[in-house]
Amino acid sequence: MGVPSSRIYLAGEWVEPAGGHYDVVNPATEEVVGTAPEASAQQAEQAATAAKAAFEGWASASPAHRSEVLGRVADLLTKYNDDLVPLVQAETGATMRVASTMQVPVAVERFSRYARHALESSLVALPPQAIDATPLAPGGLVGAVARRAPVGVVACITPYNFPLVNLAGKVAPALAMGNTVVIKPAPQDPLQVLRFAEIVHEAGVPAGVVNVVTGSGVDTGAALVASPDVDMISFTGSTAVGRRIGEAAGRDMKRQLMELGGKGAAIVFEDADLDRAASGIGSTWAFHSGQICTAPTRALVHRSVHDQLVEKLVGYAGFCPVGDPLLASTVVGPLISASQRDRVEALVAEGVGAGATVAVGGQRPELDRGFYAAPTLLTGVTPDMSVAQEEFFGPVVVVLAFDDEDEAVQIANGTPFGLYDYVFSGDTARAYRVATRLRSGNVGINTVARNHETPFGGFKHSGVGRDCGAFALQAYSELQSIVWPG
Ligand code: NAD
Repeated sequence: MGVPSSRIYLAGEWVEPAGGHYDVVNPATEEVVGTAPEASAQQAEQAATAAKAAFEGWASASPAHRSEVLGRVADLLTKYNDDLVPLVQAETGATMRVASTMQVPVAVERFSRYARHALESSLVALPPQAIDATPLAPGGLVGAVARRAPVGVVACITPYNFPLVNLAGKVAPALAMGNTVVIKPAPQDPLQVLRFAEIVHEAGVPAGVVNVVTGSGVDTGAALVASPDVDMISFTGSTAVGRRIGEAAGRDMKRQLMELGGKGAAIVFEDADLDRAASGIGSTWAFHSGQICTAPTRALVHRSVHDQLVEKLVGYAGFCPVGDPLLASTVVGPLISASQRDRVEALVAEGVGAGATVAVGGQRPELDRGFYAAPTLLTGVTPDMSVAQEEFFGPVVVVLAFDDEDEAVQIANGTPFGLYDYVFSGDTARAYRVATRLRSGNVGINTVARNHETPFGGFKHSGVGRDCGAFALQAYSELQSIVWPG
């Protein structure tokens, strides 16, 4: 594998982009990594048409064949891991640890998992019913089965933070269920997704089953959302864009899976293991520079342990060297772009203007180049401040104090988001009780670790629908009831 293709992947062919190419920039060096195809809206529509043409063949292929193809994709991702990791790093700015452990291997795991799921029966057996005669039909025993049918053509629109992992989380279960897909990656780091298209080609995925279109603006994604050939939008990204897509897709009754923004609360009670809580919350700095939708970015701390926890967090931030992601010692790499860094800095300044205190960080790191933001801790934050309400998607944690459980729950639930919250307490019965009061799709008790068997998704403005584990198969299928006389 060499330089990724500079063409889009459409109906099993490499096609010249109608709009030329645009530069993809390394966020650590500000140098150009490569050029990506600028597809037109019309080419995005053609990709949807190609996926539609391939649908019937793929949907009716044997589960064993689909499983085999997905398995081959997983094997090839593993084979090309050493080529992919440097490209992932160059495009995303991920540190060595994040790029080598969390980007490619998780994508492999997802393709392997859904290769197995592809073999599962799509039928749900139902007991026969004794039905009396009616003017509609004679009576008798009526048998039935519920069948999970593929939805059709799925447009997979993904964000920049984990390009391959997000893609795998959509494409693998969608293909396992017999759907065909058009992938539209984020404009900032699409080159590894074009490499993925090469892998798809090598794996022998039939033409049109997987298509990839890229572009620097919104036109390609918007064209897919509007295309009459697309049956479902699987979107991961910001709530603002999700809302726009939802409005457009709703007009055509397109199925939607929406994985959107978050503003995770970590409630720390007075009986919590504070070291554990601090290292969990500190992951907002240490894991991909806080560009994580599930990050515990709001530390809600019982007033009696507030100062102790803040001290531990300040200490933790001090052990997070910021800099070149290629150095093994670096913990915090750059943000994806200058505009994302500027947004984070502006939001921090807004917080300070509203009365928050910078306990650590807050200044742009002194590095010659790259889009870096320092791990930052803001204290004295109140629930109404923008820093307590808006998503940073950067290495910033805000601390809010509470006096009792009710207040903690009220603050935690007091944003439009509801993706991932955390409860730290020595009393796990209480932690569980509090978890059930949180309006959040996921809750971690005394851990920020993920369990990948769980359904993943958001309450409120954090999304619609669930994926991950076996639940993703439901997201990418329609239920069809079939009945017959006994
Ligand atoms: P974004 O919303 O700016 O972009 C996401 C994708 O949507 C990109 O591919 C973009 O080109 C495309 N897009 C933009 N406008 C469009 C339109 N009008 N029609 C169709 N497509 C359009 O998000 P981002 O900045 O890439 O990623 C950060 C956001 O993603 C954060 O809000 C984060 O919380 C969220 N996120 C959520 C999850 C989750 O699972 N809930 C996971 C990762 C990231």
